[in-house]
Amino acid sequence: MPEKSSSNFDIFLLLSESGEKAKKKQRTELLSSLGIKEFFPEGSISIDKRTCWGVECKLCIKACPTNALYWKTGEVGITDDLCVYCGACVLSCMVDDCIKIERKREDGTTERFSKPRAFVKLAEKINAKKRLRRVSELFPTVERYLEKYKTQK
Ligand code: SF4
Ligand code: SF4
Repeated sequence: MPEKSSSNFDIFLLLSESGEKAKKKQRTELLSSLGIKEFFPEGSISIDKRTCWGVECKLCIKACPTNALYWKTGEVGITDDLCVYCGACVLSCMVDDCIKIERKREDGTTERFSKPRAFVKLAEKINAKKRLRRVSELFPTVERYLEKYKTQK
């Protein structure tokens, strides 16, 4: 059997790297066309077929902004490449723990949710953090805040 040369591995590596880059670019374009600002480089989504209401419901399909969810023979199908882990499907699902999402932020933080309530709580926490960051960008220190306050007087 002929031995695999190291150049073979390099080609595979290059192919997978360029595939990843193309995928990232495609997702970024998809997000910006939808006006979605948050990007999650990694994530996963699953639907529990045992608890899903299926044909009687389909609310998640209607809620999905990227058409990652679709109806296939007898169940909700997922096109993983189109999912941006936004959570709109979890928010619309009436069955707790039916849709499970795990997503990773650029800073490495992992978020998991499978209930509308948990998703809303997480969104509130993220918004509070963003507000705090914006304030600290405007007034990074108490001294600078007081200085600015004095000049405004
Ligand atoms: S997380 Fe968002 S993009 Fe992914 S399937 Fe659910 S609604 Fe669609
Ligand atoms: S919203 Fe939930 S229960 Fe309804 S079809 Fe989607 S996964 Fe199933």
